[in-house]
Amino acid sequence: MSKSYLKHQERLNEVRGFGRALARRSRSSCELCGVTGERLDPVEIPPVPEEPDPERCLFLCDRCAAAIERGPTGDPNGWRFLETAVWSELEPAQVVAVRLTRQLSEEDVAWAREVLEGLYLAPEVEAWVDAS
Ligand SMILES: [Zn+2]
Repeated sequence: MSKSYLKHQERLNEVRGFGRALARRSRSSCELCGVTGERLDPVEIPPVPEEPDPERCLFLCDRCAAAIERGPTGDPNGWRFLETAVWSELEPAQVVAVRLTRQLSEEDVAWAREVLEGLYLAPEVEAWVDAS
C-alpha cells in the first residue's frame, strides 16, 4: 500500500470519528435536508483544511453527500429544502446550500434564482462558497 493511500485512509477514519459529535450536533438528522431515520455520515466540505475539522464537516444522508460531488441531481423540486437551508446558521450547511442553489439557478430553475436574489451572505461565508 502506498503512503498516500494510507494517509487517505487515516483521514477518512479521522472524519468518521467525528460521527458521534456530529450526531449530537445534528440530533441525528441530515444537516442539509433534515431527513431522519436514514444512514448519515460525516462529510468534509471542500476545500478541506490541512487537518480534518468537524466545523468544516456536515452529517449528511447519502443523497446530500452525493450532491457535494455531483451537484443536485434529479427533479429540481426535490431540492426545494434549499430555500431554507441557504439561511442555515450552521456555516458549512449554508455554504453547501448556496453552492447547490447556484447550480440549480444556472440550470434555469426559477425558485433557485429567486432565492439567490434575496440572499445576504456574511463575507466569510461568501469567501468559502467561492473557494470550491
Ligand atoms: Zn440530506
